[in-house]
Amino acid sequence: MSLQDIQTRIAKAEADAGRAPGSVTLIAVSKVQPNARVQAVLDEGHRCFGENKVQEASGKWPEFRETYKGIDLHLIGPLQSNKTRAAMGLFNAIHTLDRPKLAKAIARIAQEEGQCPDLFVQVNTGEEDQKAGVLPTDADAFVAECVALDLPVKGLMCIPPVNEEPALHFALLAKIAARNGLSGLSMGMSSDFERAIALGATHIRVGSAIFGERVAG
Ligand SMILES: *Cc1c(COP(=O)(O)O)cnc(C)c1O
Repeated sequence: MSLQDIQTRIAKAEADAGRAPGSVTLIAVSKVQPNARVQAVLDEGHRCFGENKVQEASGKWPEFRETYKGIDLHLIGPLQSNKTRAAMGLFNAIHTLDRPKLAKAIARIAQEEGQCPDLFVQVNTGEEDQKAGVLPTDADAFVAECVALDLPVKGLMCIPPVNEEPALHFALLAKIAARNGLSGLSMGMSSDFERAIALGATHIRVGSAIFGERVAG
């Protein structure tokens, strides 16, 4: 499916939900995709991308940024504390803020550098052991802790369990965001982004539907 097809589907989902055109940001998830495919999407004029590994992103995006202006890069994978500074230097937004230690590290580096990426708190809506994110019951306290550290928390992010109806998780995430006064909702992937838009997603993370199947990873 082409980038244009996805944009058409987003526009239709926005209209169906009675939302303003352009209210949803498409993050093109380029992890493990060959550079030629990424470049083709850049050449079509798209500038917002997502990567799930700091190291992989460091290897390709500085060079793309020399050629293409205005690239908006989002980290959507887990962030190890020892890579915090590198991530903050590379990404415009981090969607995986999920623990106090990381919040404190980001706050300290933001003070030193005088800038900070936009932040999304990841919520483990399915309460899965193997998945990152704060539990729904801990979300309010953790958001408050981040706000107390002066962190620019823009919203919440979730990755629903694979075998469950994602809409339940999107609705839960929207409810937690609303009661915390957060407007950003990072939710929805290739298979379910229209449902996410219907439930208020502001940022959808779409990989394979744009670039084709990932070869590895
Ligand atoms: C890989 C990934 C995506 C994109 O998945 P697709 O199914 O290829 O659209 C979205 N979000 C996260 C967190 C991912 O790791």
